[in-house]
Amino acid sequence: MPKKILIVDDQKGVRRLLEELFKKDNWIVNTATDGREAVSKVSEFQPDIILMDMKMPNINGLEASKQILAVHQDMSIIMMTAYGEMDVIKNALEAGVKKCVTKPFDIMNLKDIVNKLAGE
Ligand SMILES: [Mg+2]
Repeated sequence: MPKKILIVDDQKGVRRLLEELFKKDNWIVNTATDGREAVSKVSEFQPDIILMDMKMPNINGLEASKQILAVHQDMSIIMMTAYGEMDVIKNALEAGVKKCVTKPFDIMNLKDIVNKLAGE
């Protein structure tokens, strides 16, 4: 069974890059443009993993992650943060986010993290 990934980022270029990257590796990909859309898509799409941007309009990545984890306690969420956001990273991990990666991310490294987390 192919695995499902939900890519959440307000930047179209990032969404497109990640969508192509994971589709090439046979993932079933869905995208959301902000935290609110991410929260509303999770129940129906049932992703194995969520790649979540931190800085987004409407609901940011941290708040969206909290709302998702309140309903789906075991959801694997990887948060994409900006360099130096140590407080954000700490809050995200405390909220149950599994991993944080700093933007700009290394694509191979990101793939590794996603595959490891999805394989657990
Ligand atoms: Mg953003």
